[in-house]
Amino acid sequence: MAARSRLAVGCLWFVVVHAAVVYAQAPAKAVDWNTLRPEILQHYRSLVQLDTTAGHETRAVEYLKKVLEGEGIPAQTFALDASRANLVARLKGNGSKRPLLILAHTDVVGVQREKWPVDPFGAVMKDGYIWGRGSKDDKPVLAANLMTMLMLKRSGVPLDRDVIFLAESGEEADLAGVGINYMVREHFADIDAEFAMTEGGGARLDDGRVTRVNIGTAEKVPARARLVATGMAGHGSVPRLDNALIHLGAAVQKVGLWETPMRLNETTRTYFERLAAISPPERASIYKALLDPKTAPDAQKFLREHSPGEYSMLRTSVVPTMLKAGVGANVIPSEAEATLDIRALPDENVQAFYAELAKVVNDRAVRVEPIPQTRPASPASKLGTDMYQVMERAAKMMYPGATVIPSMSTGASDMAQLRAKGIQSYGIGPASTESDEINYPAHGDVERLAESSLYPFVQYVWTVVTEVAGHK
Ligand SMILES: [Zn+2]
Repeated sequence: MAARSRLAVGCLWFVVVHAAVVYAQAPAKAVDWNTLRPEILQHYRSLVQLDTTAGHETRAVEYLKKVLEGEGIPAQTFALDASRANLVARLKGNGSKRPLLILAHTDVVGVQREKWPVDPFGAVMKDGYIWGRGSKDDKPVLAANLMTMLMLKRSGVPLDRDVIFLAESGEEADLAGVGINYMVREHFADIDAEFAMTEGGGARLDDGRVTRVNIGTAEKVPARARLVATGMAGHGSVPRLDNALIHLGAAVQKVGLWETPMRLNETTRTYFERLAAISPPERASIYKALLDPKTAPDAQKFLREHSPGEYSMLRTSVVPTMLKAGVGANVIPSEAEATLDIRALPDENVQAFYAELAKVVNDRAVRVEPIPQTRPASPASKLGTDMYQVMERAAKMMYPGATVIPSMSTGASDMAQLRAKGIQSYGIGPASTESDEINYPAHGDVERLAESSLYPFVQYVWTVVTEVAGHK
C-alpha cells in the first residue's frame, strides 16, 4: 500500500506541473493524453483493487475523498448506512446553465473465486487486459469521472454549468435503498442537474477499430405481476375441472405466447434505422422491414426467433419466470401462482396494460396481481438535446468512421430515478469486442477490460464534459 501511494503522489505531481505548462500556452482542452496514462491506470486499478461488493462501498468513497480533497476539490459524503456511503463533489460554473451530473456506482457484484484465473481484486495486468471484478461494471466510468474532475480543477477550465460528481452505492443490490433512491429522496438538491451521464452505453471493437458507439437514452420499466389461480382443494385421486394448476397452466401459456403490440419510440426507431445502414444486406432488410407496418409482422417473427433482445426492444414484454403450487403429490392445491417479469416500454400505461393482460388470460379463476414496482416510470431521454448532440459529435471525433446509435436497454439502471425527476440522462461505456462481451461480460464469472479501451474512454468523458459544461 505504502509503495503504491508514493507512486501515486509522484504521478500527480508530474501531471500537475505538466498540465500547467500545457494550459498556459494552449487552449484549455489541449491535453497530453500520453502523459496522463499512468495516472489514469493507477486510479482505475486502485478502484478495481477495492472489494466493494454490497456493504463495502465506503471503501471506494474513502479513496475518492482522499484523492479529490488532495487536489482541493471538496467532497461530501451522504450515508444511510455508514458502510455504504455515497460521495458528491461539485466544481462550480458561472451558473448560466443548469448543472451536469456525472455519476458511477461504486458497488460490484460478488465473485466465485474458483472461477477466476487471477485474483478478482488484484487488477492484474495480463495479455493487454486489466482483470478484476468491476473492471467493466462500473469502475471505468468511476475512474473516468474522477479523472475528469481532477483535470477540470487543475486546468481551471471556466464552466458555464456546475459539474457534479456522484459516486453512489447499491446499484447492483439496493433493497435497503442506500444509493440512488436515498440520494434522490433525501439529497436531491445536491445532485439536481439538467443532464446526467453514467453507465448504460458502450462501443464495439472490430479488428482493433471502434465501429459502433451506443449511447443509452432509454430503458424499459420493470412492472412485474403475479397470476394467481384459485379452485377447490381436493384429493389427487379425484379429477376436478376447477383444479387451480390447470387454470394457471393455461393462463401462463396464453400470456407467455401473447404478442403484445409493437411500438417504436424515437430511440428504437433511430436504433433500427442506423443498424440497417451498417448491417449485412440480409439483416439490414429485416431492420428496414420493421419500420414499415406492412412488413413489420414478418420481421418481428424473425427477431423473436433469432434475436430475442431486439424483439424485446419492440414492445412491452411478458416473461413467466416462477411457478409456485402444491404441497403433495396426492393433494390438489386451492391456489397456484406464476410470476411474470414484465418490462414495459418507457411510455406504457402500466395499469391499462394489466387490464389488457387480464383480458388475454380471460379466466375468472385467475387474477392478475401487480407486484409493487422497484423503479419509477422513466421517460426516454431526448436525442435533440445539446448533451446528446455533443456526445454524438465527440464519439465521431474520437472514433472516426464509427456509427453512433442511441439505444434502449431492456434492463433497468439508476438512470430511471434520474429520468423520473426530469434529468435527461445518457449511458456510456468503454469499447470491447463482441467476443469479450460474450465471454467476459459485466456480472460474468470473469470480468476484464482491454487497457487500450480505458484511455480513449477517459478522453471521451473529458471531451463531452468540457464541451457540455465549458464556457462558450
Ligand atoms: Zn453497473
